[in-house]
Amino acid sequence: MTTPFDDDHLREECGIFGISRHADAARHVALGLHALQHRGQEAAGIVSFDGARFQAHRAMGHVAEAFESDKVMADLAGYAAIGHVRYATFGATILRNVQPLFADLSFGGFAIAHNGNLTNAMALRRRLVKTGCIFQSTSDTEVILHLVATSQKNNVVDRLIDALRQIEGAYSLVALTDSMMMGMRDPLGVRPLVMGKLADDTIVFASETCALDIIGADFIRDVEPGEIVIVSDEGITSLKPFDAPKPRFCIFEHIYFARPDSVVEGRSVYDVRKHIGAELARESGIDADVVIPVPDSGVPAAIGFAAETGIPFELGIIRNHYVGRTFIEPTQQIRNLGVKLKHNANRPQIEGKRVVLVDDSIVRGTTSLKIVQMVRDAGAREVHMRIASPPTTHSCFYGVDTPERSQLLAATHDVEGMRRFIQADSLAFISMDGLYRAMGAAGRNPAQPQFCDACFTGDYPISLTDHWGGDEDQSRPHRVKAAG
Ligand code: AMP
Repeated sequence: MTTPFDDDHLREECGIFGISRHADAARHVALGLHALQHRGQEAAGIVSFDGARFQAHRAMGHVAEAFESDKVMADLAGYAAIGHVRYATFGATILRNVQPLFADLSFGGFAIAHNGNLTNAMALRRRLVKTGCIFQSTSDTEVILHLVATSQKNNVVDRLIDALRQIEGAYSLVALTDSMMMGMRDPLGVRPLVMGKLADDTIVFASETCALDIIGADFIRDVEPGEIVIVSDEGITSLKPFDAPKPRFCIFEHIYFARPDSVVEGRSVYDVRKHIGAELARESGIDADVVIPVPDSGVPAAIGFAAETGIPFELGIIRNHYVGRTFIEPTQQIRNLGVKLKHNANRPQIEGKRVVLVDDSIVRGTTSLKIVQMVRDAGAREVHMRIASPPTTHSCFYGVDTPERSQLLAATHDVEGMRRFIQADSLAFISMDGLYRAMGAAGRNPAQPQFCDACFTGDYPISLTDHWGGDEDQSRPHRVKAAG
């Protein structure tokens, strides 16, 4: 059965930010969210606390517009605040789904912001609805709120742990109560979350380090997989209430999603992307006159590819920065239009040349098809496409927006079929081991993969209870759940 909830909850990418004990908390959160805008352009929200009351402002659209008004910022007074940028491309776009979510619970106010996606939210929601819970939104995150609200444990931290033990999926969370701010990651640490501090020791949580940079905060460390960090009057407390399976950080954060100026899980995203480009060149280098990135996501990999092959690097395609990511547009028709709005050929760099195009990924193939055509129309003699990830054969259920499997070009075509589809003279993807080498590993360890690479392998490290159907079926493989 399809519910409004089915529509919405599978398709979210997000950025989160929190700051505690700072006179100008909300303004810092707005700045942090601004740096995380690439993680979600659909909506933004901030919840603040001033010692007596919680205030919230949520709006559709970009951070700059949502928080431009002095009145909005003045209303968000307080010494603690958390915020969220949301990127959901599927289903209804409704304001009541915009985070942070907030509820007045028996112990006081509770606000929460979530990056990731829960994979048993529908099963839990059905159970909670049967017991009388009334849901306000279609967001999977609201399940956490109800689990905290209905937990029989005595204090808020125990209630939260109780809730986390029941949820499955990928989550980095920041939460705010009247006495503490908390940052936490799922046991596999699929999505990122870092901790930083300002000169006056104010603690900050952020999805990426680029959001620390914008407010001049120093990086302290990553919140660890399965860790809950609590910031309160008593200082900083770290709890690890779950089993500690081997972490499986999302490799696609490195390939595409994170900003290149971020350091993620100890690695510079920019450097990793250059290494991927160099590996790609070693694996599938080709005689050509120019290496051209598909901007912006293909740029660091193209630099690595050009450096490794010695082929000149040029900006042969110019991106218009005032158009949103093509994925934002809901229909194929608009997506096609979006690609044309977004890129233009820089003809003198292309005409008469054998061109290597480098992009980070092929999903539906729409972008590659358009770009290859554009480069040919600009007079390229040959067009060779090189992709800085393995073929995307599977959908992500852990918080990266990917279309359903049937729409993934690599799910229905082999590489030669994909080459024909995008009309390139040659097409090659980095191998899985090449990708892992670029990440600093000897290769992918098939018995114990070092990252979540389900979009390339179909090896889903966390149970997909909702997707598989059934209510919290215990018998599925790859079930990784917070230890009870
Ligand atoms: P497609 O046109 O469907 O093949 O999508 C590939 C393009 O979309 C590439 O240029 C990527 O940079 C970009 N891309 C890949 N994954 C995502 C994602 N999850 N969200 C937004 N854009 C993406």
